[in-house]
Amino acid sequence: MQSFFTFSDRALKYDCPSCGSFCCKGKGVALEARDEVVRFARLEPRMASLVYPLNSRFAQIMDVTDGCWMLRPDGLCSIETDHGYDDKPHTCRFFPFNRIFQVGDVRVVDFNSKICPLTDSSEARNGQSWADLQKQIDAEGPTFFGRGDISPPEGAIELGWAAHEQLVRDAIDAHLDEPDYAAFAAFQEEAMIAVMRRQPMPAHHSPQVLDRAEYLRSLLESWRVHHGVAGDPRLADAARTASRQAALLTCSWRLSMILNREAGPYPGTIQMLPRHLLAAAHLLEAAHVARRTAPGLRAATELFQGASPLIGVLSLFLQKAHIAKPLDHGVATDVQPALDALSRELLKGGRTLAETAQEALSPFPAHLRSMALSALAFGNAELVVE
Ligand code: SF4
Ligand code: SF4
Repeated sequence: MQSFFTFSDRALKYDCPSCGSFCCKGKGVALEARDEVVRFARLEPRMASLVYPLNSRFAQIMDVTDGCWMLRPDGLCSIETDHGYDDKPHTCRFFPFNRIFQVGDVRVVDFNSKICPLTDSSEARNGQSWADLQKQIDAEGPTFFGRGDISPPEGAIELGWAAHEQLVRDAIDAHLDEPDYAAFAAFQEEAMIAVMRRQPMPAHHSPQVLDRAEYLRSLLESWRVHHGVAGDPRLADAARTASRQAALLTCSWRLSMILNREAGPYPGTIQMLPRHLLAAAHLLEAAHVARRTAPGLRAATELFQGASPLIGVLSLFLQKAHIAKPLDHGVATDVQPALDALSRELLKGGRTLAETAQEALSPFPAHLRSMALSALAFGNAELVVE
């Protein structure tokens, strides 16, 4: 069976000796529930009572932040050193490329960028190769198990979801050296329109893609103004780095949203995704401007997941929207005047979120503007798109 890798060939690398065995320390090791769990328990019977079933497919080893009980002080796995690599649990053998699951008749091979500090090796091209991973998967034989089967979302098969997502994956390399993420978001939007209308796919950087990129760049600029990073002398470098990181993670991020159990039908999700990813790249560039230590790919994924409600609000910036009841920040009373101003304008409705935020929040300093918008995103307000 063909595998669908969610990353560019050899573009992602991991370095266990310098990482401190992060993945072996309290991050959850899932074992196959029928045979593998017993094999594991047999290796250390004195601790076998701490292996427990999660469901009919998986069992879990009790998480310990100091480290899995098979972890040696030198950071090596004692199963590998004492018994051999093949005796390690399946999930440990594949980690961080262990997010392997079947979607219809496609085997998706994704990676864990939230635990593992993967690094960008797209220039040297000396990272994880598809061929090596495929060999490893093939060697598992018929006992191979992934993370279970996932049904493609409604409408995905009709639109040829796998070919479409592979097209986006294959566009990653052409978008690694952009000044910002707008061109890649524009390509994804044009590709989405083409797949919906069953038209030929756009070429990267075609005139229509570049026109759309200019439009999306104006949206990006409005977020920068809102968050107080427009004009920052570090912004150009930050935007370029954030765009490269977001590009490397694009296919994996897209699939995490498309295949999420709570995701809606595929056509709706792929319409929303390009601006959602553009907003994520914007928050990442702001993090690069602000942070004393540059965020890596792991921080990028944590931001993408943790800031999802805010990313959702930003991606609606050009839509008309209103709220039904005023926003409340709770105990941080200094934020309340900005929130009251935003509430007043949002209760009226009839304007885009960008216009409303500009009208209501421009008299306030950047930190209150940002906190007011995040209260809208993370609070219990119901934003109604008109
Ligand atoms: S988290 Fe990644 S780099 Fe660190 S030990 Fe695990 S696989 Fe290696
Ligand atoms: S079994 Fe080995 S590789 Fe897996 S978590 Fe424990 S120490 Fe790490």
